[in-house]
Amino acid sequence: MPVPPHKFCGQCGAPVKRRIPPGEDREREVCPACDFVHYRNPIPVVGCVAEHEGRILLCRRAIDPRLGYWTVPAGFMELNETLGECALRETREEACAEVRLGELFSIVDLPAAGQVHFFFRGKLLRGKFAAGAESLEAGLFAPDEIPFGQIAFRSGVIALRRYLDGENKGLSMDTVPPRSPD
Ligand SMILES: [Zn+2]
Repeated sequence: MPVPPHKFCGQCGAPVKRRIPPGEDREREVCPACDFVHYRNPIPVVGCVAEHEGRILLCRRAIDPRLGYWTVPAGFMELNETLGECALRETREEACAEVRLGELFSIVDLPAAGQVHFFFRGKLLRGKFAAGAESLEAGLFAPDEIPFGQIAFRSGVIALRRYLDGENKGLSMDTVPPRSPD
């Protein structure tokens, strides 16, 4: 999903214009009334591939986008939060599950969406989980049961495949190219 442009200045409310600010090399959203420059930067998204007795925790989305599709617990990072805290929070919110966080094993760049996705390993504590408010259901899947045709986001498919490659492979880095316009 590309990042929608701002229409109005966040400082004074005037309509913004795209132009190159003095001393910079690219167009930004600039307010012609108060000169405020609206910088846009990629947003971190953090997820956790949580395992319990060889099976992987997935949630089926109760919200758009990709309602009804399966996902590893993941979401936008909040201010005043670390990557690890975000992974724990999203797993708690979407799957009502507490995990012991392992290492960061997958980073997926999505330049067209203006996002970077980070995925941690995790071990489900006490084997407990349930559908959170944003999930229709949650479940544990053996590697050969994972519904790869119904995974919500390409980054999730990449992370799951990297996870199934096994531990001790280090940190993998992948890039999701823009979708073709067809
Ligand atoms: Zn302004």
